[in-house]
Amino acid sequence: MICKACGNEISAESKFCPLCGAAVSGSSGPRSGQNIGASPVQGLVRPREGRMIAGVCAGLSRAYGWDISMVRVITVLVTIVLPPVGILGYPAAWLLVPGEPLPGTIPARNL
Ligand SMILES: [Zn+2]
Repeated sequence: MICKACGNEISAESKFCPLCGAAVSGSSGPRSGQNIGASPVQGLVRPREGRMIAGVCAGLSRAYGWDISMVRVITVLVTIVLPPVGILGYPAAWLLVPGEPLPGTIPARNL
C-alpha cells in the first residue's frame, strides 16, 4: 500500500503512515461515524498557498472541508485555554503533517 500523503510504501494494516503520520484509508471502514462521503480526505498536507504560519490550519481546513477562519479561531482559543496543547500541538502538527509537494515533483492528482 502506498501512502497518499508522502508516497512511501507502508504496511497494509497501518492506519497511519509511520513516515509522515497521515491517516491511511485502508480496507477497514471508518472508525468514527463521520463519513464525509462525497469528498474523501485527499491526505492531510500543508498547502503552500494560504498558509499563515506553517499551513497546519490551512491543511486541516482543506483536508476536512472546514472553514479556515474557524480552524484558526479554534486553534487560537485552544492555545489560550490550554496553552500546552497549542504550544506543543502546533509544532507537532508542523512536523508530522507533510508539506504539499512542489508542483511537478509528483504526477498530477485530482485537485
Ligand atoms: Zn506518508
